[in-house]
Amino acid sequence: MVVLKIVQVGDPVLRGDNRELTPEEIRTPKIQQLVELMRETMYDAPGVGLAAPQIGAPLRLAVIEDRAESMRGLPPEELARRERVVVPFHVIVNPVLTIEDPAPLVFHEGCLSVSGFVGSVSRARGVRVDALDHRGEPVLIHARGWHARILQHEIDHLNGHLYVDRMDPRTFSTSDNYLRHGRLEPAP
Ligand code: ZN
Repeated sequence: MVVLKIVQVGDPVLRGDNRELTPEEIRTPKIQQLVELMRETMYDAPGVGLAAPQIGAPLRLAVIEDRAESMRGLPPEELARRERVVVPFHVIVNPVLTIEDPAPLVFHEGCLSVSGFVGSVSRARGVRVDALDHRGEPVLIHARGWHARILQHEIDHLNGHLYVDRMDPRTFSTSDNYLRHGRLEPAP
């Protein structure tokens, strides 16, 4: 398995412009191979999403998957609070995000490009994403809860934003301290 290097915060590629891909381009072996490499890199990290700029490619493309393995060890009530369910692997290209349910959900999140840290971020509960899929075909995604959070996080990457731009700075923590001291986000 080949794993790509994940760019860390401070690298300009995480703050730059990312270009769109045409349907024809998505179908090229080059992009198909990039998607496979990003998938393997996301599994290896492990993470539930990875955007192209995070592996140094300034493209409006991201991969997402929330597997049952990723949730192992999390209490059912915590999964329920987050509205976190298994999300199959999918690719979004040139995504356009629309907030469908603006109710704010506040939880800690992390980022593979801000390795070792987490912070509390308010995200909209429900979103709609219009995008192209891995075959260059139009897709419409309606997502709630944690999947909606992942989509917002990954699409932020494509716009040069990181969760640290949106977090409550007083909740910023190492991942270790977050696990040690429990959740810091205000109760819902
Ligand atoms: Zn990230």
